[in-house]
Amino acid sequence: MRKYVMAGNWKMNNTIAEGVQLAQELSNNYENDWADKVEVVTCTPYVDLKPVVEVFDFDKCNIGVGAQNCYFEPSGAFTGEISIPMIKEIGCSHCIIGHSERREIFGETNEMVNKKAQALIEGGITPIICVGESLSVRDDGKYDEFVRDQVKAAFAGIDAADAENCIVAYEPIWAIGTGRTASPEQAEEVCAAVRDEIKNIYGESVAQNIRVLYGGSMKPENAEGLLAKENIDGGLIGGAALKADSFTDLIKACL
Ligand code: PEP
Repeated sequence: MRKYVMAGNWKMNNTIAEGVQLAQELSNNYENDWADKVEVVTCTPYVDLKPVVEVFDFDKCNIGVGAQNCYFEPSGAFTGEISIPMIKEIGCSHCIIGHSERREIFGETNEMVNKKAQALIEGGITPIICVGESLSVRDDGKYDEFVRDQVKAAFAGIDAADAENCIVAYEPIWAIGTGRTASPEQAEEVCAAVRDEIKNIYGESVAQNIRVLYGGSMKPENAEGLLAKENIDGGLIGGAALKADSFTDLIKACL
């Protein structure tokens, strides 16, 4: 039985004061026994990480905190970058890598995603590896092959025991922040392909254990249909994670 994961991606939203307020509201709503059914993670901007960790620690709240990016080198002359030891020290348990906004706006390549995944595993942080096709790839009907290639590239050189603990988020770019959600059938088709590709690389057991999330305009109104699908183990949620009540409703959809 795979445990659901609900990961909020705040993107570049919430100052420290706003982030602390949202974390406090989430902590007030959250009940720790939900952790039996669903792993909840809040991925905040770098500057919010420590204050948000402090809110959850103070409240003994079982919500993990994640970064939205990292650099794969441990230290050095990489102006503007943040290392994995830095986010680890703050208390991050997870880190998103390969988000389509980082791939499209900041030129993150499959090779960089792979290096980040390897370095995160080495550092004891769970990578949330994003994959997903653009509208033109979808319209060309090449999305299955495209996403499988991203999965293969992201997991190159990673062994089975580590792969099993990674999280993959399938996020069709045409559904992110657009209000246009993939239908449960469309999302399931590609999440199943992600799992099948993991099976091709690592075999059945890893494929059955790894969590594959859907992301793209997930909200309380559409979550149930998506979460009911066999190969969808939760969500990576942008807009609807910016309000405590909608994110809480999404978490409750997993219970
Ligand atoms: C995301 O940021 O990964 C995302 C899925 O955003 P949204 O839920 O707003 O589409």
